[in-house]
Amino acid sequence: MDKITKILTSALVLLLLITIVFPYSLVSAETGVTFTKTTYKTTDLLNLRSADSVSSKKLASIPKNTALTSNYRAGDWYRVTYSGKTGYVLGQYLTKVVSGTTFTKTTYQTTDALSLRQAASTVSARLLTIPVKTSISSSFRDGNWYRVTYNNKTGFVSGSYLKKVTVAPTTAYTTTERLNLRSAPTTSGTLLMTIPSNQVVQSLSISSNWHKVKYGGKTGYVMGTYLKKGTASPAATPAGKADYSGAKMYVLIDSGSTVALRSAASVLSGQTARLGRGTPLVVTNSLHKTRGFVAVQTADGRRGYVEATYLTLFQPSTSNRPLIVLDPGHGGYDPGAVRSGLAERDIVLAVARQVAGLLEGKVDLTLTRYTNDYYPTLGDRSAMSNALSTTRFVSIHINASSAVSASGAESFYYKGSSSIQLAQAIQQRLTSYAGMKNRNVRFANYAVIRNTQAPAVLAELGFLSNSADRAKLASPAYQTRYAQAITDGILATL
Ligand SMILES: [Zn+2]
Repeated sequence: MDKITKILTSALVLLLLITIVFPYSLVSAETGVTFTKTTYKTTDLLNLRSADSVSSKKLASIPKNTALTSNYRAGDWYRVTYSGKTGYVLGQYLTKVVSGTTFTKTTYQTTDALSLRQAASTVSARLLTIPVKTSISSSFRDGNWYRVTYNNKTGFVSGSYLKKVTVAPTTAYTTTERLNLRSAPTTSGTLLMTIPSNQVVQSLSISSNWHKVKYGGKTGYVMGTYLKKGTASPAATPAGKADYSGAKMYVLIDSGSTVALRSAASVLSGQTARLGRGTPLVVTNSLHKTRGFVAVQTADGRRGYVEATYLTLFQPSTSNRPLIVLDPGHGGYDPGAVRSGLAERDIVLAVARQVAGLLEGKVDLTLTRYTNDYYPTLGDRSAMSNALSTTRFVSIHINASSAVSASGAESFYYKGSSSIQLAQAIQQRLTSYAGMKNRNVRFANYAVIRNTQAPAVLAELGFLSNSADRAKLASPAYQTRYAQAITDGILATL
């Protein structure tokens, strides 16, 4: 074949191929638009034509009220198939059929990541992906496809991945102290916010001492230990408060000595006054927020900073009564033992507060930490006790073991007969008051009792890793028993 014949042959083959692959007019295929398959109903008797023109061949007559589907139109001509014939009808005689049903607006949660589609079909365009556990609401569905709006886009999702959210009746609780609202029912859950003391929260559900609550527009989890049922205000005792802004504190130092009121939260900053034992001060920021210093205001209006070591929530006596330093273990970023959403840090503070409440008026006392969001180092704890004329130092802890059968209370001392006596007095009462297995009084080389000069004991109330002990440790009634045991143990040895 010569060159021209070759080109002509190729063109002929191409034309044949086009005719086979595209049996319809290429012109309308180029001018029309494809859209989501839609069902229509004919509003009159109308003609099905071979092309998008009134002059094209009439293929059939379609009666009024016939259902037709189309996903392609050229101008006002819709391509439809009727009685096995495919052709075009005029859109002015078609009305869209809305399938699906409207129902009472319902909230669902997605059980998996799922596609939001333009229409109620898996072949329709995907608008976006909705993440798992997203709350979405719908009031219209077409078969198992639910119409929803997410991120400003409205479309359809498959009902197979939706779970109806039932709104449980809520119960009002009041926070007994400042506590953390977390994203998950565990102390390692992301901190969403800190709820102040004495706030009413709505509890949505409870699971092993964690309440799912709504507060300040946020939903999260809080520990039940710091909630009281109802909307009544808890007694406004200093020990019940955890955000100490506005609280009264007192200078705790030996009679005749003074502490500095400083211009900044640093021992290097200038002194504006010297404050004596028992001087009342009003806290002007939350305690422990300023690295070991508390911002305060004196009765005569002077503002400054005092080292936290020398401040107590409990008014000291003028005569020198015994001084007790209570040391709730851990704190802040250090939760101590954690099991089933319970943290040693939180329980030991709750117990220490109760001990303080029981001892108040009988002795002078202070705590190494008053809140759960502050971690004094072991050195800080001993230094605080050593800076004061401390009579007894009691560090409160909770055990944990990988052996879940390990249970019971134990009390440790490092040196001196006074420490041993105190340990025995506390240990004996922990076992009798709270029915703890007796793991005895023992020597231990723990920094906090080794470096403290006063007779010092580290009491382990029980095992958070043991289910029977854990139930007691989480129980407010048993926390009171532990507190009473420690209180009576201290008082018995003074
Ligand atoms: Zn501990």
